[in-house]
Order: sequence, then C-alpha cells, then structure tokens
Amino acid sequence: KLVSREFKNEDTIVDVGGVLVGGVNLVVMAGPCAVESREQLLESANIVKAAGAQFLRGGAFKPRTSPYSFQGLEEKGLEMLAEARSLTGLKVVTEVVDIQSVPVVSAYADVLQIGARNMQNFQLLKAVGKSGMPVLLKRGMAATINEWLHAAEYIMSEGNFNVMFCERGIRTFEDYTRNTLDLSAVAALKNLSHLPVIVDPSHGTGVWKLVRPMARAAVAGGADGLMIEVHPNPAEALSDGNQSLTPENFQALMQETSAVAQAV
Ligand code: PEP
Ligand code: MN
Repeated sequence: KLVSREFKNEDTIVDVGGVLVGGVNLVVMAGPCAVESREQLLESANIVKAAGAQFLRGGAFKPRTSPYSFQGLEEKGLEMLAEARSLTGLKVVTEVVDIQSVPVVSAYADVLQIGARNMQNFQLLKAVGKSGMPVLLKRGMAATINEWLHAAEYIMSEGNFNVMFCERGIRTFEDYTRNTLDLSAVAALKNLSHLPVIVDPSHGTGVWKLVRPMARAAVAGGADGLMIEVHPNPAEALSDGNQSLTPENFQALMQETSAVAQAV
C-alpha cells in the first residue's frame, strides 16, 4: 500500500507553500475552533503568529453535533482566513465537509482538513485526492488505526501524497474527557507509515487544562506537529470554548513544546 513504510521507507515531508511538515521541525497549527467574525479571526491570527505558530486554523464550515448550533460563516469565513493569511503570512488549514465545496475551500486554503466525522466519507476522500491539495486527515472518533490508514490510501490512490494524519482522540468508556487522546497511535503510525503525524490535544481532551500537558507528551512521543484551539476570549467562544487556550496559555505551550522538541 502507498501509505506504508514497505512502499516508501523515507519520511514524507509535506511542503505547504514552503512550510515543511514532517522531518525535523515541529509545526503548530493554531486558532479558533470556528471563524466567528473578522475581528475575532484577525486577533487570533496575530496571537498565534506572535507565539510562533506556522498555520492558522479555523472552521468556516462547521460539522456540529446539533443542527441548531452555529454552523459557520462559510465562504465569508474563508475570505477572512485568506485575509488573515495575507496580513500575517500564516498558512491556512480549514475543514471541507462535502464534495461540492472542495473547489471553493481549495481556492482560499493551503490545507484541506477532513474532519473526524468524514474520515470514511470515501467520495470526499477521493475528491480531495483529485484536488492535489495538502490534506490533514483527522482520525474518525471510532476508527481503528487500520481503517485510518485505508482512509489515507483513498487519498493517495488518486495520486495525492500530501497527506498528514491528525490524532484527535477516540471514543471510549471514559467520559471525564471529551475523547481519549490515543498517543500510542502516534508511535504506531510512525512505524507503519511514512506520512507526518499531527496531534490535536484540544479535541483529544475537550478540557483546556489538559491541553498543555498532552501537547508536551505528544511532542515527546514523536508527533511532527500540533493542532491547538486558541481563542482571544474562550468564555465567549461560539464553539469549543472549554477546550480553547487563552493567548497566555498558548504562549506557554509554544515555549514548553519547543523545549521538549529540542530535548528529544
Ligand atoms: C475541528 O478541528 O474543528 C473539528 C471539528 O475537529 P474533529 O473533526 O476532530 O472533531
Ligand atoms: Mn473545535
């Protein structure tokens, strides 16, 4: 299989417009769960840029559990992400939720995010494969490592090798945390596959106090990058405020994870 170390032993480095994912440098993708307004997004972008992140994250199309929750600003949100990119130089990673919106999201974003709920949407996987865009493939909340590898294979079988895995926690009996962050998956994937592995301790725990320790652990365990939710004022976030870091906590996370990266 294309995803496997047997097919390709050397680590894949995904080049996102000059920012390299995989290999030696730790990359950080950070920003709000959702793009809420121009002010909120530009403030978030300045915060994560100043702290040293390379990517701005933010959902414009939000796959919410309830249809009555905030669904995202859609194309207006994409325009704001592109504006934030031109002001800061950050690369943009944002979710694409269906086949029809692959062209519009590709027109604004640097990386297409496939969310946990769509990990086995095989038609969508083929479409992002055909797009040739870098893809961040989140783990399905009940997906095995083998199923996840096959999802990556769907993208790669369309000729697109610019795929990054993102561990974001799986559903277990434990309900203190929102999900159970499976850090053993990082080591397993690094053995099985040549593709880069990103860890999202925000969705992986659902609890902001657990995000910094799990980010440190992820880097110590060999993650190539982190995805972190950051909000200028988490208490007022329209989604995922409980797991979003304040600017101060995000700065601390950046310092401590770069220290861990130097040590390992
Ligand atoms: C997100 O990153 O905002 C998101 C919805 O994540 P997941 O698909 O991992 O739940
Ligand atoms: Mn979120």
